[in-house]
Amino acid sequence: MADSSRLLQLDCDHVWHPFTQMKHWRCADQLIIERGDGFYLIDTNGHRYIDGVSSLWCNVHGHNVPQINQAIRDQLDRIAHTTLLGLASPPSIELAGRLCHITPGSLNKVFYSDAGSTAVEISLKMAVGYWYHSGEPKKNRFIALQGAYHGDTVGAMSVGYSDLFHRPFESMAFTSTFVPVPNPCLVVHETPAGVWPSEQEALNQSLLDQCLNELAAALKRQAHQTAAIIVEPVMQGAAGMVCQPSGFIQGVAQLAREHDVLLIADEVATGFGRTGSMFACQHEEVEPDIICLAKGLTGGYLPLAATVCSDEIEQTFCGEIDDCRALYHGHTYTGNALACAAALASLDLFEQNDLINHINQSAVIVSDRLAALHDCPHVLDVRHRGLMIGIELGRHQNTAKPFEPAGQAASQICLAMRPKGLIVRPLGNVIVLMPIPAMDHTTLGHMLDIVVDTIINYPW
Ligand code: PLP
Repeated sequence: MADSSRLLQLDCDHVWHPFTQMKHWRCADQLIIERGDGFYLIDTNGHRYIDGVSSLWCNVHGHNVPQINQAIRDQLDRIAHTTLLGLASPPSIELAGRLCHITPGSLNKVFYSDAGSTAVEISLKMAVGYWYHSGEPKKNRFIALQGAYHGDTVGAMSVGYSDLFHRPFESMAFTSTFVPVPNPCLVVHETPAGVWPSEQEALNQSLLDQCLNELAAALKRQAHQTAAIIVEPVMQGAAGMVCQPSGFIQGVAQLAREHDVLLIADEVATGFGRTGSMFACQHEEVEPDIICLAKGLTGGYLPLAATVCSDEIEQTFCGEIDDCRALYHGHTYTGNALACAAALASLDLFEQNDLINHINQSAVIVSDRLAALHDCPHVLDVRHRGLMIGIELGRHQNTAKPFEPAGQAASQICLAMRPKGLIVRPLGNVIVLMPIPAMDHTTLGHMLDIVVDTIINYPW
């Protein structure tokens, strides 16, 4: 067992953690995760916790899965990494073929990188480059959804907005146009007994129409200078687990086509089964022009991302050397061989374990167990698609009890789950649950029991 106090001291002395107020971090006793065992994380003191965030939304089959471990070891015995600049490698070739086969529509060319943010950056450059090389250099702007999160590099920040995350860096970003998303929680704070705002069909339909009309108006004004619309289909994750009513992504795709604007689907979070189909676009048979993949691509083992586009887009970058049309973009670890080997093993496991079917069965358990939260006065909405789940806390109009300042209740509740053996993380007032897709139903049920019990017994 590792020497926890020495490690903690070293951590406090030298590690700057992402998305973390380090002043507070250094005052608290932090967990150091040393090992993983299936759906559990094990800390340096030997305590076991259910991984309720899929290690930040990327783990798919569990930790220490023998088949993925073996695939990485086998590749390691051949070579760990070799560049894709001017050379090819078997695992990156095999994986590209598999990705083109499973992604929606006629996406057929894979550009690798190593994080969700880089996958998004590349998609933006592909879109602008496509129009530039097609003789329309003025089509270089983007339309995105309000509150969208597409990553933290400058381009990705520019097509998203989180006041908390991005305000100090706004001056670095380029200008994009943001259109509203049909989020019922923004307009309703009281619901009929037993029905969450996100389940109210009439409300969702009217919000859907309103939002698509606003997108149509924005496109009418500025399609001539718009390269692409970028969306997280079906569920906006980091925006607070905001579910889109059915028909939204199809409506967006149709408007993009009508106005001759590309559609980029950011499936960094929603891809690889999380919403109950391999890719969220497939729920509505939407075929984007570009799709961004990362997180679950390697089953959550190693950093790898892919931006997959149509032949038509890639063709505009083809020409003679002197034409300077090549996509001059790349990263040192682009298409890393170990990561590609892990991704291939992960895709095999999807098939062998009929994982999409399992996820849809798990989603029924989620609905059933979380229905118990209907009686909790400070639970404003519970929404999920597949195994992406948000429990929004707030103050119902029909309760006299005050609600704690933003974020506090959600983060206190998440911390209270730890001694019970569960790790989850909030996003503002939303408790986010992201069970590992392959999680067995007993562990999932146990996880949901901890969540419900902790929320109901919280001293509001
Ligand atoms: N896009 C979406 C939809 C995401 O949820 C995230 C991360 O949460 C990203 C992009 C950025 O991915 P990464 O953190 O790997 O850069």
